[in-house]
Amino acid sequence: AKEQGRNAFRFFSAELNQEAHERRRLEGNLHRALADEEFFLEYQPQIDLRTGRVFSFEALLRWQHPEDGLIPPDCFIPVAEEMGVIRRLGEWVLLAACRQCRQWQQPGLPPVRVAVNVSGHQFNQPGFIEMVDRVLHETGLNPELLELELTESALMAGEQETIMTLIDLKVRGIHLAIDDFGTGYSSLSYLKHFPIDRLKIDRSFVRDIVKDLDDRAIVEAIIAMAHSLGLRVLAEGVEHEDELELLRERGCDEVQGFYFARPQLPEALGKYLEAP
Ligand code: C2E
Ligand code: CA
Ligand code: CA
Ligand code: CA
Repeated sequence: AKEQGRNAFRFFSAELNQEAHERRRLEGNLHRALADEEFFLEYQPQIDLRTGRVFSFEALLRWQHPEDGLIPPDCFIPVAEEMGVIRRLGEWVLLAACRQCRQWQQPGLPPVRVAVNVSGHQFNQPGFIEMVDRVLHETGLNPELLELELTESALMAGEQETIMTLIDLKVRGIHLAIDDFGTGYSSLSYLKHFPIDRLKIDRSFVRDIVKDLDDRAIVEAIIAMAHSLGLRVLAEGVEHEDELELLRERGCDEVQGFYFARPQLPEALGKYLEAP
């Protein structure tokens, strides 16, 4: 048993070493990748269920590594956060997304928004508002066409300052959404103090909504609570028609998911931007 334990330990530490090595390699790479323009954005439509219209696109970050291929954001964003590169990376994302959104606007057609994910590390840094202002100024985008998606944990970091930052964003007309809602263990009381527009129900509740009555109950409760607080509700990760029908029946306002469209390059989005 002792021998077994030692082997298990050796195996475990080899794995940790491997991970640490991976991490260091990623770190060095991230800086170069920003300089070499290996990042790009895909956009996923968000649909208003009442009108059937695409009212916004969520920008999702992609890294095309020259040797390793496409690296998903869940793999490199945590590393970027830890090393502090997230500030530069986040600014790059915001600038690219706002520029894109500006191009989508067409005379005679209703305006379309862009939703940008903001890491808590970015949001809670001094100078965040100034960075947003700089980007809006540089791109000329109407702030009302920008939505920022923040997670509960990002908002819990700095209570009083957080509220001030949110109000600063709100007075500019920027929309605010809580991402991955329901996964954050935080108290719900913040919802009444924060100037939020929209809750995004996490995919983990939507995935089993047809079969799992607990998940369904949670989704119903989130919708009811959001509506009584005057917030809109968007369900993310809708993949099947029966999920959509259930969400619609329960009064969910908006959806996003593979059932409608995968995240795509801007070139492929033309059909969502035409007159109905
Ligand atoms: P998220 O913000 O919750 O984004 C939703 C994720 O679900 C995206 O994965 C999207 O491609 C995927 N998705 C959308 N619809 C469906 C569906 O119907 N089924 C399934 N199975 N998946 C669906 P992605 O693009 O890999 O992004 C993962 C996470 O990485 C995001 O989760 C977000 O937390 C983070 N992320 C992505 N881009 C950025 C960024 O620019 N900045 C920051 N800070 N984080 C980002
Ligand atoms: Ca998001
Ligand atoms: Ca999510
Ligand atoms: Ca997420």
